[in-house]
Amino acid sequence: MREDKPREECGVLGLWSPEPLPVADLLHLGLFALQHRGQEAAGMCVSNGQELVIEKDLGLVAQVFDEARMERLRIPAANLGIGHTRYSTTGSNLRFNAQPLSVRSSKGILAIAHNGNFINALQIRQQLLEHGAVFQTTNDTEVMINLIARYTQLSLVEATARAMQELLGGFSVVITDRRTVLALRDRNGVRPLVIGRLPNGGWVFASEPPALALMGAAFVRDVRPGELVWVEPAGPSRGELRSWQVLEPRPTPCAFEWIYFARADAVLDGIGTHPARVRMGERLAQEAPAQADVVVPVPDSGIGAAIGYARASGISFDFGLHKNPYAGRTFIQPTQAMRDLKVRLKLAATPAVAGKRVVLVDDSIVRGTTSGRIVQLLRDAGATEVHVRISSPPIRFPCYYGIDTAARKELVAATHTIEQIRALIGADSLAFLSEQGVREAIGGPVCLACFNGQYPAGKPEEEMRKEALETEGASIR
Ligand code: SF4
Repeated sequence: MREDKPREECGVLGLWSPEPLPVADLLHLGLFALQHRGQEAAGMCVSNGQELVIEKDLGLVAQVFDEARMERLRIPAANLGIGHTRYSTTGSNLRFNAQPLSVRSSKGILAIAHNGNFINALQIRQQLLEHGAVFQTTNDTEVMINLIARYTQLSLVEATARAMQELLGGFSVVITDRRTVLALRDRNGVRPLVIGRLPNGGWVFASEPPALALMGAAFVRDVRPGELVWVEPAGPSRGELRSWQVLEPRPTPCAFEWIYFARADAVLDGIGTHPARVRMGERLAQEAPAQADVVVPVPDSGIGAAIGYARASGISFDFGLHKNPYAGRTFIQPTQAMRDLKVRLKLAATPAVAGKRVVLVDDSIVRGTTSGRIVQLLRDAGATEVHVRISSPPIRFPCYYGIDTAARKELVAATHTIEQIRALIGADSLAFLSEQGVREAIGGPVCLACFNGQYPAGKPEEEMRKEALETEGASIR
């Protein structure tokens, strides 16, 4: 039920091969594996060292890359390319904000695809504008490419490293100049990025490992927080992967990758997402037990945690909700009655819940509206009690690192107590997993800023200014 979920911004992909390959077709496959990371636009560019062809548009991967577009991308002797799936958080959902973005610059033709947010993009954009830069889009990806182009005396690798030092926030980026592909991750490693090896000695960079598998590449390792990697494009070392630890790593990857975003078959920074979700469910059962007859997941996001909850509690697991996989995106009149019908279009309660006390497990609550409708679906199907268990803490703060968690005023947990949320969604009981529970289930240091307001990679200046003003106002009063 993605409408009431935090939404990932993007997925990125890069490929370099020592010899010609069907690059467009391989990237196409990889983008399908990253579709869940962004469903509003998709794009890719392909090069053979001379030509660079870009095709991108609004829509799903399957809609954007029709036969005509794929044919245009199948240029002779192609050996590299980058790809992108997008959900727009910065810059509105307009066609010209789709990526990859390409520019002619002091470094020749560059193309870039990016996942995440630069929290100081506005300030850097302003500085660049004052120095005569011209921007074609409203997204902050262009800020990075302009920064790189500004260092005319530096090589592409050196200029990219300089840009990494100046940009703050949570981001993963792939760049190509038609000769090589570069990939980088912010110093906190907030957004994921992995490296894979093709059987012919080529390299693939992707937001998540399942994209590597689909492209026939073997997983090598994660790009380290603060690391810049690139493929040596020429000379005796041609095809070797180079690494530069540009920034001292301070790993705090996004906890939500394991809670919800990343695919269930992904392993990020050495930690599998599905096993982590199961552990979150086990921990939730210990922290918030319930007297019940059946554990039911909200499909698909609650399945891992529900398995864990059932396992640790000894209560049987069942699919009490059926998800219609063909419902897709719906543009239904946003009236109350139609919204209720929309939930029924996507989800239906099964007879497994009739006469039962149900533990309903989901990964998160953003606005609470969908949770309320699901509780009602279960009651209408005969559930005698519904105990809602959430495998993450209440979301009380916005994310500045590329996730749309909704504005703070829309976050139900920012304005309501847990008891008020319980009443709002009509559950018999409601409990959330603790921050400590999330940390231990993932088993490494993670960003938990949307739960606790502590931003490991900093906050945008304008937000800090706003807070300072509010504090000042309070002291004057
Ligand atoms: S604030 Fe939340 S959603 Fe954003 S990076 Fe941190 S954990 Fe992830």
